[in-house]
Parts: sequence; structure tokens; C-alpha cells
Amino acid sequence: MADSEDRVFEARQTICPFCGVGCALAYDPKNGKATGREGPVNARGELCPKGVAAFDVVDHDDRLTKPLVREHGRFVTAPWEEAFDRIEAAFGDIVAQHGPDALTFFASSNCTNEENYVLQKLARMLGTNSVDNCARLCHSSTVAAMGERFGAGAMTNSMADLREADAYLVVGANPAENHPITFQSYLAPAIKSGTTLIHVDPRANATTKQADHHLPVRPGYDIPLLNAMAKVVVEEGLTDEAFLDERVEGYDALRAFLDDVDVDRNADLAGVDADELRAAARAYASVERGAIFTGMGMSQHHCGTDNVHALLNLALLTGNVGKPGSGVNPLRGQNNVQGAGDVGALPNVLPGYRPVTDEDARERLAAEWGVEPPPMPGLTEVEATHAFGDEVRGAFVLGENPAMTEPNTNRVREQFERLDFLVVQDLFRTETAEHADVVLPGSAWAERGGTVTNTDRQVQRMRPNGDPPGDARPDLDVLCELGARLVDADAFDYDGPEAVFEELTRVTPQYAGMSYDGIGAGSQRWPFPEGAEEGTAVLHRETFGTGEKRAELRVVEHVDPVDSVDDDELVLTTGRVLQHFNSGALSRRSGILVRLRGEDVLQIHPDDAAARGIEDGDEVRVSNDRGTVTVEADVTPGIRHGTVFATFHYADPLVNVLTGDTLDPVAKIPEYKHSAVRVSVERADESGEPADESGAATGTD
Ligand code: SF4
Repeated sequence: MADSEDRVFEARQTICPFCGVGCALAYDPKNGKATGREGPVNARGELCPKGVAAFDVVDHDDRLTKPLVREHGRFVTAPWEEAFDRIEAAFGDIVAQHGPDALTFFASSNCTNEENYVLQKLARMLGTNSVDNCARLCHSSTVAAMGERFGAGAMTNSMADLREADAYLVVGANPAENHPITFQSYLAPAIKSGTTLIHVDPRANATTKQADHHLPVRPGYDIPLLNAMAKVVVEEGLTDEAFLDERVEGYDALRAFLDDVDVDRNADLAGVDADELRAAARAYASVERGAIFTGMGMSQHHCGTDNVHALLNLALLTGNVGKPGSGVNPLRGQNNVQGAGDVGALPNVLPGYRPVTDEDARERLAAEWGVEPPPMPGLTEVEATHAFGDEVRGAFVLGENPAMTEPNTNRVREQFERLDFLVVQDLFRTETAEHADVVLPGSAWAERGGTVTNTDRQVQRMRPNGDPPGDARPDLDVLCELGARLVDADAFDYDGPEAVFEELTRVTPQYAGMSYDGIGAGSQRWPFPEGAEEGTAVLHRETFGTGEKRAELRVVEHVDPVDSVDDDELVLTTGRVLQHFNSGALSRRSGILVRLRGEDVLQIHPDDAAARGIEDGDEVRVSNDRGTVTVEADVTPGIRHGTVFATFHYADPLVNVLTGDTLDPVAKIPEYKHSAVRVSVERADESGEPADESGAATGTD
């Protein structure tokens, strides 16, 4: 347990550990909370409730302060030397017997660029590209589609220039709750001044409250909706002909495809009103500057990459790329989910998104590291989990909690038991750590130095406000010691995070011109080429990131969701809320955030509730062939008929036992947003025992 009396914190400007907005903050000695600093993003020091509560977790009693090793099935504390010896011996045996691809490494979107860079270097110098991070589970489809067609899988614009938009089209994102300072400080003032907001989301939420148009799309039917919007744009002459002539190819093929698209039929399939869809298309396409925002509502489908392709078509048809107040802007979920990918914590690309199959890129790294990375892509996170006990025998998990965040969690937990050896480095004994052979105590966000990259590509510096508790050590030190033991001492002999940053700028072209001093208390934005005075805010002005002047329009066909939905079933879609974060490992340990929202609820439409005899506040049973949870019902017309919503922030209900693990064929992202479930009421009978009284007219269970 952390001994709070021994701990001393000092106020040094650092970055909020939660979402990808990247607000600056520091320790406030007056109240032990975080206080906002005037940073590049939060210019007036604004913070949302999560940011204010960020210190709650740092000094929490549950903090691990010593390494744990498993003895006779139970964890006992151990000195670092013994923990390292066990890892070195076990990973050494696995590599000797099965080869380096029998190991897999889970990097972390919540750790710094330097920590992620060192971990992927360690994996690749050992001989495997099987290193991935949880961007796989949230935005890999966005990165894949935008990378392929635009040449950069990141926001095309900056938050600052997006204030200039005349219309916002927000698809599958809820920035008012999940990116609060982006919404409050950038979008809301523009909306107040007249910018139109179009919101595409199956449920009405805080973002919808400010919207002029709401299309409550049926989960899994984004492509018919976006194709119908594209049809309206073409049919009504709302295209940007000059842009199509100069910057786009493939228009004839798309137009021929759209000829056969029936707007009314597609609207019906997508579950939205056709006239409202037409109005939304006009609102976006008829203005001078239209900006698209997108999020996990689009990306987390087995057709997530195609969803994003359909969205890119709209931006290209209307000439909304390469100018301020426009573009396609994926809002990133964790404070370094952008950077973890930038610096190579992905199995198919090296630092700077250079493919592992690119010989020049591998040779460039070999010149820096002395060892060439392997040429074949490694396994993604979910692929690796599915291979545990077979091709994969050992795993290292840094600061992630896949036993809660991966889909079909009951299967995931069985898979973790099949590993020969598991190492987890984290702040707490997480659900994943319970399966480990060695658990290393990690450093919290406020105990680390280094850099993180936010959602609009700004690289900012984190500075420690205190030391890790007890015998815990900074994550970067631990990773470097592991690298020295498992690979080569010289290759991991860094004099702190700045030295790692200097190395990663030499092998990550987008970061080539950056420096620690140049970032200072501000930021530097990628792409920042060597010799440049500043980074680039608006991408693709003259040419796309592919190096080409033109980007391609793409014909995108709808495919049905994986789970078929029987008449007695509803569609579960999962998401986030303002007060909590990711698996909840951090936010559920904050007294403030738990007071703001203690328990999860299942949002269900009044008609669906009535059909099942469910009243507001009832305990309901949600189940399918993958698992079962019980949760309180929140009967609300805010959720569309036929759909239910719950978050993935809670260990109970652990909603991911219900989600499916079929993957998008390109991005390998799971279909979190569409799971068929049966919902029935659970009421205590006279004996006080729960009794399943589904009573649903449609006959559940
Ligand atoms: Fe932290 Fe995001 Fe809130 Fe800013 S908006 S304080 S980065 S959680």
C-alpha cells in the first residue's frame, strides 16, 4: 500500500493523464488536487472533472509498492533483482524453445512516447514485431483508412483552426462528454456564434443537446447513412467541382455507384428520417468550411475501416480537406494514444508509420540500434490474445488492462491462463495482473517525465510532480533495465527521457525537427521536419501525406453487423461517460469521480422496457451466448428503440463479457458497438432471492 505520509509532491507543469485533449495541469499543494495550467490546449487553465481529480489515483492506498512474484499460486513480494531474474529466465527459455515471435508486448497509450519507444525497440531487437497498444481497440480503423488515402492517420486540422468551421459533422463521437475541453473551449463558442452542429449517434447525449440536426443511426448502419448523404451532395450539386478536378480521383466510379443509391431506402436501413438526413447533408455540404469529427462509434465495427472510408468520401466530395475549419478529425481517447502509434508501438509499422516490410526503414533503424527489426508484421493485440498458449507463450503488459478492455472477456481470461509466463507492469493489481507470474509496480502519470502527443498532434512535456511510492520505480527505468538484461546493455543505456526523445526524433520523420527545449512549456506539432521553424497545423494543403496531389474516392458497400439480431433481442452498444475513463482502473479509484457516478446503468428505450416489463431502476439481466451481466435499467427516450447502451468503465457489470471478438479485416479492431443481447428484469422474490421475471411479451431467455 502507498504510504501517503511519506510522499512529497511539488507543482510542476505536466499533462492530464486521461483523454487525448492534452490539458496542462500541476499539483495544487493547497488541496492536494490538480490545478489547471495555461497550456497550449487549455489556454485559460480549464480542466474537466477528470482532470481535477487526476491526483486521487496517485496516492491511492491500492498502489503497488514492491514487485510481486507468484509462489505456489499466490503472490508474494520480492526484491526487484528477483523479479528481473525470473523474467529474464522465463522469456529467455521461451525465445530459446519457440523463437522470439512466441513473445508479445502490450505497450500503453497512457505511457509516454519514450516509454513506448523503448518497449517497441526492446521487442524488435529481441526479434519480434508483436508489439501493439490499445489504439488497436479504439482507432486503428481510422488510422488505417486515413493513412491509406490521406497519408496520415491523425486529425487533419488543429483545434484552433477548427473554430473557423461553418458546420461540424460529428459522427460516432460525443465530445461534450469524452473530450470536454475540446468541446467547451473550441466547438461550443463556434456553435454559439452560428456554426451548425450535425450529430450522428444512436443516442441523444450532451453533444446532441447543442445540435441542429440529430441522426440517431442504427448501430452498424453508418455506411448506408453516409452513402445516402453522399448521394444528396452529388444529386443536389453540392460538390466542390474545382477540388474534384484538381485533388481527387475516382469520381466517375463513385458517381456511378451513387446512381443506384436510394436515399429513402438507405435512410430506412440506417433507421433515420430521410428528410432529416437530406437536411443534414445540405447543412454540411453547402457551407464554405465543413469539419468532420469522428470517434469510436464509427471505428469499433468489423467494417470500421470501411465506415471511415465512407466518411472520407464526404470530405473529398465537398472539398473540405486542406484548409482551416475543415478536414476529418478523429478525437483520440487516451492522453498518448496518438504518440504510442507515432513512435512505433504497432506490429505492422516502425517509428513514423514506416512499414516493417520497408527495407530502407529497417536499415535506418539498424544503423541506430545495431540490430535490424524483423521484416514480417507481428500480431495485433487481440490476435495475440487469441494465440495465447499456442504460437504465443509469454506476454508483457505495460499499463493496460486487456482482461477488462478486450471483447468477449470470459474468453480473454481463459486465454491469459494458457500463457507460460505473463508479466504485468501497472499501478494496481488489475484484473489482468491477477493472471500474472510477475507484477512490477509502475509509476503514475504524475511521477513520470517525457513527452506525450495529443489528439491534434501537439507534443507536450510531462514533468514528475513526485517520486513513485515505496520501492516502485519510474516505468522508463524499469523498461531500460529489462532491455539491458534481455537484449543489450548499451542499447538501453539512456540518461533519462530526453536522451530517448533525441533518439526517437532521429528515426521518426514526423518528429525530426523537434527538441525538448523547443517544446519547453508549450508544444511542437507534427509534422515537424528537420530545419523547420514550426509544425504544420492544417495537413494536405497542396499535396496529401501520401506525397500525391490527389486522393481517391472509394466505393464502399454496406455489410451487415456480425451478430444477427433475433426478434426478442436488442442491440447493445457500449461507450463512455464524462466522469470515468477506459477500464475505470484509475477513475473508479477517485472518490470525486465515484461520487459523481458510482454505478453503471443500462439505457433502454421506454417501448423496449415496456415490452419486457422493465421499470426505471429495475435490476435487469443482459445476456447472450458470450456472457451475462446484471445492471440497473435507466429507461430513457434518449436511446433509440431497439438499442441499449452501457459503458465499459466498470468491473461490475463487466460489459465486455457480452461484446464479440470478430475483427475488422484491415485494422483488426473488434466490433464493440454492435452485440445482440437479451434483456430481462430481475426482481427479488418474497424470500429475497433474485427471481428472473422476464415477462417480456417477446419472450426473452
Ligand atoms: Fe483531462 Fe481530457 Fe478533461 Fe482535459 S478534457 S482535463 S485532458 S480528461
